[in-house]
Amino acid sequence: MLKKFITQKARQTQKLGELLAQELTTGQVICLSGDLGAGKTTFSQGFLKGLKIKGPHTSPTFVVIKHYKSKFSIFNFQFSKKQKTKIQNIYHFDAYRVKAKDILDLGWEEIVNNKSNIVLVEWAERIKKIIPPNALWINFQGLSQNERKITFQSHP
Ligand code: ADP
Ligand code: MG
Repeated sequence: MLKKFITQKARQTQKLGELLAQELTTGQVICLSGDLGAGKTTFSQGFLKGLKIKGPHTSPTFVVIKHYKSKFSIFNFQFSKKQKTKIQNIYHFDAYRVKAKDILDLGWEEIVNNKSNIVLVEWAERIKKIIPPNALWINFQGLSQNERKITFQSHP
């Protein structure tokens, strides 16, 4: 899977995050890569809004991890009949100021192995070695002051 989008204002990047929230499958790890100011937090805010999580969805840059409880249910097509699965927790990580070891110490393995969790990781490229192979990668690139290129792919 490779999908590219160009957004022309922050609101559009947020909207893309909201749309992704509707496309979720359970146990997903979503890795956000790209430079400072590229739009990772803006996208995450839209994503959390799409999951009906009450704001403010402040950046986890300084706290490293933010946890939200979810009441959101998604359809799971794994079995032949349509089945709803509840997402219990959303974890929003930011690896800008830390190393993989620090993220592991926050209970990373347990969090990503729980299928009822959804995990967002900003600066995921800094902790690539601990990211599960089935993660969704989204790269953010600034093209101009208000333009961003956003690329979805299954591998970094
Ligand atoms: P990051 O988390 O990647 O460091 P942020 O989302 O915190 O980036 O910041 C992005 C900044 O760029 C915000 O101030 C936002 O308003 C601005 N911006 C301008 N145009 C866009 C766009 N098309 N998409 C996302 N952010 C944009
Ligand atoms: Mg950020």
